[in-house]
Amino acid sequence: MPPTIVNLIVHGIGKPRRALDPGEDESWVTVEQFEQVLDAVVGIDNVRLTFDDGNASDVEIALPRLLERRLTAEFFLLAGQLGERGRIGRDGVRELVDAGMSIGTHGWSHSDWRRLDDRRATQEIAEAPKLLSKLVGKPVRHAAVPFGAYDRGVLHRLRKAGMTRVYGNDGGPAREFAWLQSRNSLRHDIGPAWIDDVLAGAPGLYRSATRTAARLVRLAGI
Ligand SMILES: [Zn+2]
Repeated sequence: MPPTIVNLIVHGIGKPRRALDPGEDESWVTVEQFEQVLDAVVGIDNVRLTFDDGNASDVEIALPRLLERRLTAEFFLLAGQLGERGRIGRDGVRELVDAGMSIGTHGWSHSDWRRLDDRRATQEIAEAPKLLSKLVGKPVRHAAVPFGAYDRGVLHRLRKAGMTRVYGNDGGPAREFAWLQSRNSLRHDIGPAWIDDVLAGAPGLYRSATRTAARLVRLAGI
């Protein structure tokens, strides 16, 4: 059986610093909820953390807490909204990269990719990763589909744009090296048991001894 992985999505953490779209608050979590999830996945190698939307909380809240736990993550940014109110700017992107985090594309302006004319599709799917690549100084070939909304046309465009990994939002575990992978979104109403339930859906997860040791060191405050 191919290796199984659990992909998680974080959207925003804490108090939003911009007006949210209708319903968007349902995918924001508190700092406490976020920390509970991080603490639960420390030491589990086959959990992947991803962040969508390029909210300012990626750098201000998430980054220090990831580093504290020696975790890495992939941040899917909106190329056309960098530096807007409540979103991370170019300095923030650099900070993420310098800290060892990866950058992927979430498109240009958070649109439904199934409903675009050719010109906008090119901007969203092909030009956004090019701009991000320039910014981070290396190719950006992973994409997270806005709203998890894709169809055959969207996937075809993503392949043509040279994406080597595409993330949706379909829930459940994924195959570690698959081109298209599902993710599980943190939501405003998750409790401490949520992450255990998500992990239970993926048999064969294991804890690596080194990372567990790192966690114990951290907990002991050494
Ligand atoms: Zn999004």
